[in-house]
Amino acid sequence: MQRMGKGRTPRRPVPKRGPHVEKDPVGVYCRIRPLGADDQECCIEMISNSTIQLHAPDGLKANRNGEYKEMQYSFKHVFGVNTGQMELFQEVAKPLVEDLIHCKNGLLFTYGVTGSGKTYTMTGSAGEGGLLPRALDMLFNSISPFQAKRYVFKPDDKNGMEIQDSVEALLERQRRESQLPAVPKTPSRQRADLEFADMINAEEACKSDSVDEDCCYSVFVSYIEIYNNYIYDLLDDAPFDPIRPKAPQSKPLREDQNHNMYVAGCTEVEVKSTEEAFEVFWKGQKKRRIANTQLNRESSRSHSVFTLKLAQAPLDADGDHILQDKNQVNVSQLCLVDLAGSERTSRTRAEGSRLREAGNINQSLMTLRTCMEVLRENQMCGTNKMVPYRDSKVTHLFKNYFDGEGKVRMIVCVNPKADDYEETMLVMRFAEMTQEVEVARPVDRPICGRRQRHQAFREERGGANAGTPLHYTVSDPALLTQLLESLPPLPPCNLLDPSDDQTLPRLIEALQKRHRIRQMMTEQFNQTAASIRSMMEQFSSQVGAKDTLIHSQQSRMGEKEKLILNQKTEIERLEKKSKTLEYKIDILQKTTDMYEQDKRSLEQELDSREQRLQKELSERRRMEQRMQGVVADTKIKWESECVRRVNAKQLEMQNKLWVKDEKLKQLKAIVTESNSGGASDAVQERPLRPTRERDHNAGYKRSASPSPMPPIPVRPSHRRSHSCGGDKWVDHRPSSNLELDTVMQPIVPNAITVSSPNEKALSKCHKYLLRHQELASDGEIETRLIKGDVFKTRGGGQAVQFTDIESLRQEDPNAPSRKRRSGSAESLQMEDRENRPPVTNSGPVHPKRWKP
Ligand code: ADP
Ligand code: MG
Repeated sequence: MQRMGKGRTPRRPVPKRGPHVEKDPVGVYCRIRPLGADDQECCIEMISNSTIQLHAPDGLKANRNGEYKEMQYSFKHVFGVNTGQMELFQEVAKPLVEDLIHCKNGLLFTYGVTGSGKTYTMTGSAGEGGLLPRALDMLFNSISPFQAKRYVFKPDDKNGMEIQDSVEALLERQRRESQLPAVPKTPSRQRADLEFADMINAEEACKSDSVDEDCCYSVFVSYIEIYNNYIYDLLDDAPFDPIRPKAPQSKPLREDQNHNMYVAGCTEVEVKSTEEAFEVFWKGQKKRRIANTQLNRESSRSHSVFTLKLAQAPLDADGDHILQDKNQVNVSQLCLVDLAGSERTSRTRAEGSRLREAGNINQSLMTLRTCMEVLRENQMCGTNKMVPYRDSKVTHLFKNYFDGEGKVRMIVCVNPKADDYEETMLVMRFAEMTQEVEVARPVDRPICGRRQRHQAFREERGGANAGTPLHYTVSDPALLTQLLESLPPLPPCNLLDPSDDQTLPRLIEALQKRHRIRQMMTEQFNQTAASIRSMMEQFSSQVGAKDTLIHSQQSRMGEKEKLILNQKTEIERLEKKSKTLEYKIDILQKTTDMYEQDKRSLEQELDSREQRLQKELSERRRMEQRMQGVVADTKIKWESECVRRVNAKQLEMQNKLWVKDEKLKQLKAIVTESNSGGASDAVQERPLRPTRERDHNAGYKRSASPSPMPPIPVRPSHRRSHSCGGDKWVDHRPSSNLELDTVMQPIVPNAITVSSPNEKALSKCHKYLLRHQELASDGEIETRLIKGDVFKTRGGGQAVQFTDIESLRQEDPNAPSRKRRSGSAESLQMEDRENRPPVTNSGPVHPKRWKP
């Protein structure tokens, strides 16, 4: 990760991390202070080392008719009245100091009503040092051997940390020391030292065992007070004028380039020991006390924030110098906050400006409470409500702890006295709620100090003088010889003569020359070594930067992998869904197929039924036709039978008549004979008895000779004279009749032809003729001429009485069935003769009909 040329800011911005950020709840601890000497009733009972029970005081119970609930509250840990400062520190603050040393931020605050022991817990008293001096002590005990020289780390004014090389630092040190007034230690400083020495026993000293020895450290402290929602720098060097006390200048809150909040222009003092740090703290305390006294303020109404800032940077491979790379500087901080009393305004009996102050205090604590509530709601319900950090300076300053990452711990101080009961209850509720807020756990950011690694590497290579880089040995004999040869040769140094005063000076001169050359070579060597070293340092810092880059890339890769994993699960889910959908589609397809098949079979069945119906219908029609034919056949048969019988009867009657006539004639002859005497002629003249045989012969004879014919039994109505006489006929021809191409056509002269009978036509005529056509049983068309007389009715209308029927029928002589049906040709001729039309054309018709 490329930083902006500054050391890491204490409160890191919210890193854009995936949903799997590890979070820890705010650690809430409860400390019960012992009852004061004046207090009798204890309202708090410690049930276990994590639970307390609140008992309503007697007075309150009486007021509310004894219906007061006994409430229990649980915390991460409850510290009873006998808990010492050391125990509390070990449990609550030590892990935060450990984190601070490992580049992680921490926030520790005490909360409770005034007099509940917040200041006692945070600062402590003589012999009973609180969390703050103990934290300082532990920090310096741990990092002292690895501290950087003063001014190597230098805070800029924008919440960043710059790094200077040793020369710059030395110059600055000298400059600052020259500016300081050369006064001996003041009694107050001595007192402060004494106080600190009183606070913590030497045997209680604490130390972290896991300090990174590849790093160089520097501690900066700042101390601010938030009063009336204004921030004041308690380490500001501006002299306080006791005669004309001036309200101190408040400091604004700013956001640095990494969106971390800081107090702009706040003094940050670099301290090198616990004593020095504590001295600075006391200085701030003193200033606070003076301001409170002079400005008539109540210290319990201000929040105080003591910040321990630890800057650390990796050492170079030699372990002598800090890597001059600002990107490698890590800054972590631990804020120790002593909040104002959480009691309500009414309880403080504040008036005027004090009321406003109390209101502000309570307002800031209210804001803290609201922020916790909103945070908890957002985290528990997944909502994204805006947390009102900006509503007060306290919450705004610590925004990054809740928004970003860090470890947050709160010690709820309670006084078990009866007076505080109701306030304590409110404090407990807030504390319980705060426990449900979660803060992102700070991640490890290892610093890439290379000294130890480099040493280990050299040791592995068997370098005997590892760690002493300036003592070089030349192990190559050839190189050594070459070096010696390059020096000027030594003159002969044999002293043979005691008075020889030249050999020795010459030797001295040669040796001096050699010495000078050696010095020059050493210098050159040192220069080269220095340049190589700086190159190495540069290289090392580059490697460090690369390491950091690799680290950040690895974390990014982890995030990406998580994302890929999420997407894979999503894809799997979608695949499963698509499979189930496909299965459903399959089932639906099958169902559709089944229905289609059903539909097809039903259609087939419908078709076959329709065909059957058609067949039945045509069968019925055929049957009907056949029945009609049979009926017509039977009718014709019976009609001809009737005619035959009538004819026979007529013949019989005629015969009988003839016999009677004969008898009468014989009687008449007898009578006449008796009268005239001759009777022989009478026998000769006696007519023949009409027989069928004789009729036949007579018929044949008639054509041969026109002898008088015996009378044919013809009904009077059949006579020609009747049909062709002077009567006027109505010839009714229905329009449905067919024109037949027959030889014989009935022609009625003197007739009015109509297609349907009407009264007008009937009134003019006496006779009526209907031409009726019908199908005979043999399939031929038969025309029937139905004749009748027209009468005038009594009402003035006309009525027709049918008197006669003539039939006209055509036959195919080759058709055997008809012959069978109609019998012999003779009978046909008979029939034809009998069924003559009323009028027939003379000429070709008669010979055809009457020829044998
Ligand atoms: P606060 O800061 O909450 O107003 P202080 O810390 O000033 O309260 O405590 C008020 C008094 O109670 C002080 O005199 C302090 O010594 C005493 N006190 C508080 N807590 C304890 C404790 N745990 N043990 C002994 N004395 C205590
Ligand atoms: Mg206090």
